[in-house]
Amino acid sequence: MNKWVYNFGFGKADGNAEMRDVLGGKGANLAEMNRLGLSVPPGFTISTDVCHFYYQNNKNYPDELNIQVDKSIKQIEEKLNFTFGGTDFPLLVSVRSGSRASMPGMMDTVLNLGLNDETVKALASASNDERFAYDSYRRFIQMYSDIVLGVPHEDFEELLETEKLTNGMIVDADLKTENMRSLVNKYKELVKNTTKHEFPQDPKSQLWGAISAVFDSWRNQRAITYRKLNDIPEEWGTAVNVQAMVFGNMGNDCCTGVAFTRNPSTGENEIYGEYLVNAQGEDVVAGIRTPEPLSKKAFKKSGGEKDNSMETLMPDLYKELTDVFRKLESHYLDMQDVEFTIQKNNLWILQTRNGKRTTNAAIKIAVDLVNENVISKKEALFRINAESLEQLLHPTLDPNAKKTLLTKGLPASPGAASGKIVFDADEAEKLSKLEEKVILVRTETSPEDIHGMHAAKGILTGRGGMTSHAAVVARGMGRPCVSGASEIFIDENNQTLKIREKILNIHDIITINGSTGEVFLGEIATVEPELSDYFNIIMHWANKYKSLSIRTNAETPEDVKIAKKFGAEGIGLCRTEHMFFDSERIKFMREMILANTTLERKKALEKLEPYQKEDFKKIFKIMKELPVTIRLLDPPLHEFLPKLDEDNSELLSSAGISKTELKNRVEQLQELNPMLGHRGARLGITFPEIYEMQTRAILEAGHELLKEKNIKVNIEIMIPLIFSATELEILKKSILQVSEELSKKKVIVPNFIVGTMIELPRAALLADEIAKQADFFSFGTNDLTQTTYGISRDDAGRFLENYIEKNILEIDPFVSLDQSGVGSLIDTAKIKSRNVNKTIKLGICGEHGGDPKSIDFCNTIGLDYVSCSPYRIPIAKLAAAQARLKATSD
Ligand code: PEP
Ligand code: MG
Repeated sequence: MNKWVYNFGFGKADGNAEMRDVLGGKGANLAEMNRLGLSVPPGFTISTDVCHFYYQNNKNYPDELNIQVDKSIKQIEEKLNFTFGGTDFPLLVSVRSGSRASMPGMMDTVLNLGLNDETVKALASASNDERFAYDSYRRFIQMYSDIVLGVPHEDFEELLETEKLTNGMIVDADLKTENMRSLVNKYKELVKNTTKHEFPQDPKSQLWGAISAVFDSWRNQRAITYRKLNDIPEEWGTAVNVQAMVFGNMGNDCCTGVAFTRNPSTGENEIYGEYLVNAQGEDVVAGIRTPEPLSKKAFKKSGGEKDNSMETLMPDLYKELTDVFRKLESHYLDMQDVEFTIQKNNLWILQTRNGKRTTNAAIKIAVDLVNENVISKKEALFRINAESLEQLLHPTLDPNAKKTLLTKGLPASPGAASGKIVFDADEAEKLSKLEEKVILVRTETSPEDIHGMHAAKGILTGRGGMTSHAAVVARGMGRPCVSGASEIFIDENNQTLKIREKILNIHDIITINGSTGEVFLGEIATVEPELSDYFNIIMHWANKYKSLSIRTNAETPEDVKIAKKFGAEGIGLCRTEHMFFDSERIKFMREMILANTTLERKKALEKLEPYQKEDFKKIFKIMKELPVTIRLLDPPLHEFLPKLDEDNSELLSSAGISKTELKNRVEQLQELNPMLGHRGARLGITFPEIYEMQTRAILEAGHELLKEKNIKVNIEIMIPLIFSATELEILKKSILQVSEELSKKKVIVPNFIVGTMIELPRAALLADEIAKQADFFSFGTNDLTQTTYGISRDDAGRFLENYIEKNILEIDPFVSLDQSGVGSLIDTAKIKSRNVNKTIKLGICGEHGGDPKSIDFCNTIGLDYVSCSPYRIPIAKLAAAQARLKATSD
């Protein structure tokens, strides 16, 4: 006979903590607590195997289940000397869900099951409290009918409110026994009218109704969404825990409470919790009465008037409880979240689980547990969710501030910011120079907006996904960004922003929360982040255990400084095009693009060269001897072109062309598919003088820094978007030629190597040929994902969500690396390249470089580094350490 049911109670249990797959987290912990000798109300767990059976067999149960459940109920009856449905001492049970991962509040629970018109009388005389018995019964009818029979919860609440109103009562506690009795009748009437059946009186049929409802709740919408958000597989299923009820509402020698063994907000090693005398668990949570603190210390901190703490009112039981907390922590080696009830001076532990905590608390607790010799440093690194570190690095909205939500878009770049609405980048720059805070609001952004994005405190766009231009750039700069807020409409002519029915004017103030995608009206206070010593300790341990190097994608000195502060071990991608958009420089860039001859082009490039050199010097000065990968010009030239409806007189005179010529030239340069057009290495091949100028600027910057500051830089020159070894061969030759020319002019050429990005499937497949020419490869996983899928990263937002809903894609491949497709190209390229070039350096620099799952993949296949935006460096470091430790312990 298959075992479907696992019993526990009075120091014995069929299961244990290791059996989370079968018993779920709650069931496994209940079993384990019994083994630890704690007093846990007896009960049994129906395994997750039954959940699988239930869904695979049209919601039927295995044959033996009924017998096993009956047997288990009998065991509880014998242990407690109570009877299910009995008229002397009735046994009441709770029926709760419990999956392998905790999913708080997502599934259903039924309490007080077993009550009916007869057992309620027995409960009244056994407890000597009629009011309590009828209160329990009415709560049960409401809960059961809502969850199992589908009678809306609010309908019962309405009856309750009416009962109080008609009797001049304010709170539930005012209700007398007769009110409870009358409510029971009214509730039963409501059930009959709604379902056309009497409220079920047979405890066994109540039990099976509740068991099925809990299994059904595994697939309710809340649970499905929660699983998606938390990566919990559908196939895990839930277990069902049936457990004898104990009562915290049988008088003043009873109470119920919830406690964390450490403070879950700060991580402080202090008991943190609340309790209520003469109450049931739901009263603590529902906020009907204000719970009291557990400890005297917490009472003092609260500044309350009368010390009703458990430590003061029930000192012996408080001590017993804190002993249990210590026992649980030292057993589970982690902070616990514990539910307990005291019934007539007897302490019962109902549940324990690893407590949810803020990121700051997670860090402090992990470090403290190492210092207390409870866990190892390696284990401590796993106690912190790498992704959650992001919360600590950006300003956040004051949680206590009042907020008026205007709309919601995608949480494209975390952090919060308030400012005046502006609709163009120049205006953003102008106002920010006057020390004004602005939010740049655009339908979508283009590289030309870069200065405005930098000047703005935050960015809001109507279109674009999580890897749209705005999102990538904003993350790189650490600017909060909400993208794809499809309800916003910008009226350029009237300079207004319409959000649903609301019209806002330019310079009105809004606040965005890039961590949630929310947009609010007006200014909301923010809180600046402060990195604790505990944070630094965790980073120190992460550095010690990781093997991947963590570099950054950055090009402005401000961003490079931030990255260095967060511990960047080099720059993995300096996008030089971002250096051309400054208003001073863009005119020379435009002259260069509009040039008709090579000579004219070279002249324009000569004007740009000093700017480039200065930029590189600033970056080298910050990074010193750390490697700096500089990518030569990549985007299609039309991104730099002037707009024809603007005043271009200065440009026309400096370029020496007429308005018509300008128009013709701009039209000539338009491409149908610019992202697959004249960009990357293709620019270098057709206009070699561009890359020559950039190379000169890079090498001379290195030379000058050596002379001026004695800094020996470590340069990596990178060619974007190649598809063949021949392209690289030609471009590398021209780089080396520039270097030779400089040497001849007595320039001390700094150390440099030449490599390429692998961003096209063809380049990945021919990596062995290309690797012969390259000192390093950097996988540009943004473009490689785009070209492998044939999906434009700027347009994907419109349909990817639908693909995820339909389970065609599990996750947006621009956010987390598609390991089977794009990952396989990277792995192929790695094997092929290392076959011919043992010392080739390999890394990735797409947005995936800051994503923990993608980092795990890079560690597994043995890349040398990942490069990510400055604010993701701590995340990448922790994720890299976790990946390495996981791999070595497998
Ligand atoms: C990439 O394609 O992954 C990359 C880093 O380059 P960009 O995003 O600038 O195209
Ligand atoms: Mg690219």
